[in-house]
Amino acid sequence: MTEAFIGLGANQGDVLATLKSALELIGSQEQCQLLACSSFYRSKALTLDDEPQEDYLNAVCKIKTQLEAHQLLDSLQSIETKLGRIRHKRWGARTIDLDILIFGPQQINSDRLNVPHPQIVNRNFVMQPLLELDDNLKIPTIDSLKTSAKALGWEGLKRLTEEAQ
Ligand code: ATP
Ligand code: CA
Ligand code: CA
Repeated sequence: MTEAFIGLGANQGDVLATLKSALELIGSQEQCQLLACSSFYRSKALTLDDEPQEDYLNAVCKIKTQLEAHQLLDSLQSIETKLGRIRHKRWGARTIDLDILIFGPQQINSDRLNVPHPQIVNRNFVMQPLLELDDNLKIPTIDSLKTSAKALGWEGLKRLTEEAQ
């Protein structure tokens, strides 16, 4: 059994409904159990060009799984497809994005998978929900999640109130 953290993001369509469906589908996969989910967060989109994009709705969930990391990636990609994700350009708008952030103590660098996700320290919309779930979380590639999160701050990020979720 491995404990893993998955980052969820959506900025097209009914983002709240999409995030909820994704969580349900993650929890109902074979050999996968949903342990916890962060609050939902609204964040400004990252873009590679100047094209405006809708804000994102983000969250992080914690699971327990018997799957191997690459099997989990397969399974998350089929959930993305099921929820209507069509792959356009990198960092373009999408109905749903599911990233493996952390997979137990494992460090993986294959052509399909980099774990821990290399961008964790650069993204407050990932670090704040991770801290909310476990503020003592140890990440193999990061010295201190708390220190990195503090350095990045809350720019462009807002935690939704319970009524808004
Ligand atoms: P970013 O990785 O910067 O968040 P992205 O999520 O927009 O970018 P995608 O287009 O969703 O990128 O995915 C591109 C590829 O990234 C996937 O096909 C997958 O093979 C690969 N990948 C590498 N590491 C991971 C990971 N930890 N979780 C999910 N996909 C990953
Ligand atoms: Ca991503
Ligand atoms: Ca992705």
